[in-house]
Amino acid sequence: MDTTYLGIVLSGSRLMIGEVNTAGDILQHKAYKLSFFNQESALDIIHTSMEDYVRSASLAERKPAAIGVGLIGRVNADEGMWYQIDSGRTHPINVAREITNWYGIPCFTDNDVKSETRAIMRWGLGQKTENFVYLHTGTGIAAGLVIDGKPIRGSHFNAGEVGHLRVGVRVGLKCPCGRMDCIETIASSVGIDRQVRFLKRYYDTQLQIPQQGERVSVDEVYRLCREGDPLCTKVVDNAAEAMASLIMNLVRVSDPDTVILAGEMLSDGFLLEQIRQRLQPVTMRFVTGGVVLTQLDAQYIGLLGAGALAIDGSEGMTTTAKATKK
Ligand SMILES: [Zn+2]
Repeated sequence: MDTTYLGIVLSGSRLMIGEVNTAGDILQHKAYKLSFFNQESALDIIHTSMEDYVRSASLAERKPAAIGVGLIGRVNADEGMWYQIDSGRTHPINVAREITNWYGIPCFTDNDVKSETRAIMRWGLGQKTENFVYLHTGTGIAAGLVIDGKPIRGSHFNAGEVGHLRVGVRVGLKCPCGRMDCIETIASSVGIDRQVRFLKRYYDTQLQIPQQGERVSVDEVYRLCREGDPLCTKVVDNAAEAMASLIMNLVRVSDPDTVILAGEMLSDGFLLEQIRQRLQPVTMRFVTGGVVLTQLDAQYIGLLGAGALAIDGSEGMTTTAKATKK
């Protein structure tokens, strides 16, 4: 029987567990909706959900060879340590060791977007290039930069947090990081929500804006933008301009030949079209692979990332240096 690997992804509002094989097929999976969690309760949530998954998926019949856990925030993939993004609240947990001890299966952990970058390298367009930018645009924005075949991690495992770059689009929104108008406050799904609420005083709109606490529908913003709604047009224009600037800046930084996009903001292709119209040919002239959506199933990219992490880990590539892959 084909070797299987178990992936676990903990993102803002849900936990997903599933099994993948070496070909990158998802064999089965289950999603768990989460309310608030913090780093202390995260391990309990993983444990409880795993117990349910093992019961419902009859995992015992084929024990996975390894487990990969994709987490938000900073992760030392070599040691399995999970830190919080906010350095003031850092309380590191050795997630990999805890989970290995629970299940008796080798466990590896990494940041979620860095794990997705592994999936792109293993099964996606990253197989064809040593130099690419992977950009995930969902509730947040982060990048996996692969340069000369090596994913860049940084001295605090924090490289690629490009959601906190300013890109020349001014709205007047303060980012939780302390800077004004970080791209995450403009072009992520949270950013669309913040833009709508901030700019509605200046532009007419047909958009139904939900109460605070409920998120504005990005699909609805795109739909009304297509119909010429003034507020939605402005919001999408800002997001597209910001994303195009970010992509061109990253192209100048790391000289990729392909820019690969994923995330809920890009799901229907509308924003991508708006972004492409704003890319300057001179800046983009060496990006011969283009600015493209990932070929992997975008809905399960996180799970594929966790699966790729488990495989990388069992092959001794916790930091995925392609150079070590013989
Ligand atoms: Zn910021």
